[in-house]
Amino acid sequence: MYCPFCRNPDSRVVDSRLADDGSSIRRRRQCTECGRRFSTVETASLSVAKRSGVAEPFSRSKVISGVRKACQGRPVTEDDLAMLAQEVEESIRASGAAEIDANDVGLAILAPLQRLDLVAYLRFASVYQAFESLDDFEKSIKELRREYPAGSAGAPARSVAE
Ligand SMILES: [Zn+2]
Repeated sequence: MYCPFCRNPDSRVVDSRLADDGSSIRRRRQCTECGRRFSTVETASLSVAKRSGVAEPFSRSKVISGVRKACQGRPVTEDDLAMLAQEVEESIRASGAAEIDANDVGLAILAPLQRLDLVAYLRFASVYQAFESLDDFEKSIKELRREYPAGSAGAPARSVAE
């Protein structure tokens, strides 16, 4: 890329380090012409195709704002949301695709959200899966009861016995 100061197309890398838990690389560069330094960040490209056909870069903050609505009034912290978004991104990147459907982002949110908070999960699922009647809720709750027989109010008790 061009030097942001003098537009010279050449620069050399003076330092590079992993950032963001290894999902990106930050490079410190020095312009071969003016000698000034600047940084670039390199990430594997991952874009989300919206229903309109427009693709936009995957964004953890969009995942968080989508899930936050479902978590209103629930004992879910900002840290929980950040971890969930990271988990969602990791599972999507693990699929190896450079572009995914917006729908698949919603799908990738369901499992970690279910582990985080069952009420928030139900709210999110009812919107994402377009629940139309009480039957849809009932079916979903039945499935949850099978999976979390003891937990009725929130996330399942975490096993402490290793
Ligand atoms: Zn320069």
